[in-house]
Amino acid sequence: MLYYTEVDLSYYEIPGERTLNIYISGCQNNCEDCHYIELQRIDYGNPVKAYIENIIELYRRHATCICFMGEGKGEEADYAEMCEYVSIIHRVSMKAALYCGRDTIIESWMQRFDYVKLGKYYPDKGPLTNRNTNQKLYMKNGCDWTDITERFLEY
Ligand code: SF4
Repeated sequence: MLYYTEVDLSYYEIPGERTLNIYISGCQNNCEDCHYIELQRIDYGNPVKAYIENIIELYRRHATCICFMGEGKGEEADYAEMCEYVSIIHRVSMKAALYCGRDTIIESWMQRFDYVKLGKYYPDKGPLTNRNTNQKLYMKNGCDWTDITERFLEY
């Protein structure tokens, strides 16, 4: 089951979207200089399942996209649970985004999202706003994905 620590509104995670960010705990990436150490705690915070519909209802007029900051413990059950939430988000005509902090490709379960960020955080390469970053943000374009990482440099 997925747990979250908090939510916030932001213009910065996805260019061109106002996102409601939901911070998911259970992160297994163990990055050096982790910016949010509490997210590494397993099953920490509130169960997403109990609050997701209320959160969407509360924020749907204030955000265009819901962005999951993290993917939980990396178990198949967590991925399936998150995909259920993507369906709910699409039903209310919002976009869905995933900030995945792993070095991986866009996996099959991620195909449901409108935006996917990939790549582990390395202090010497920096975040998405750094020209030297290893991280990538992809936007779904029909059946394809477009790398839109460069758009962070326009901020
Ligand atoms: S992905 Fe984010 S929360 Fe997880 S260890 Fe890395 S910096 Fe911390």
